[in-house]
Amino acid sequence: MKSLDFLILIPTDPNYVPSEAQAEAGADALEALLPRAHEVTYDMFDDVRFIDAGEAFEAITCPLCGKDAQGWWEGAMDQAAETEFEDLAVTANCCGGATNLNALTYQPAAAFGRFTLVATNAGVGNLASEALVPIEAALDCRVRVVRQKV
Ligand SMILES: [Zn+2]
Repeated sequence: MKSLDFLILIPTDPNYVPSEAQAEAGADALEALLPRAHEVTYDMFDDVRFIDAGEAFEAITCPLCGKDAQGWWEGAMDQAAETEFEDLAVTANCCGGATNLNALTYQPAAAFGRFTLVATNAGVGNLASEALVPIEAALDCRVRVVRQKV
């Protein structure tokens, strides 16, 4: 069976969408970084989406106190989904602090966004954050990486 893996770059600001020209330049930069990738594409969405690894989370932790957040995360997600993830702000049940769903620590990594830059079968392990600099420059935003296997 042939498996596909996707290396997905998502702006750290979930509402950020680059222009078409920036997206094209970002795709070119990712292709240059990953010459063995099968394909590099990008997508823009009308609403914020939650992009995850496509498998169960090993852990979701609160960025404020470091405690396990899985117990309250699902309820908070359901609530945020009602507004198409327009408002990601949450009060952490563990410590009562103010945070947002995009700031939680997801393992494996997950993120919210309206734009994704995707390399199919990238043929690499982890990417160093320095490697992302040319892509971030092209897109004019910071990005984070989500790996997805199908
Ligand atoms: Zn907490």
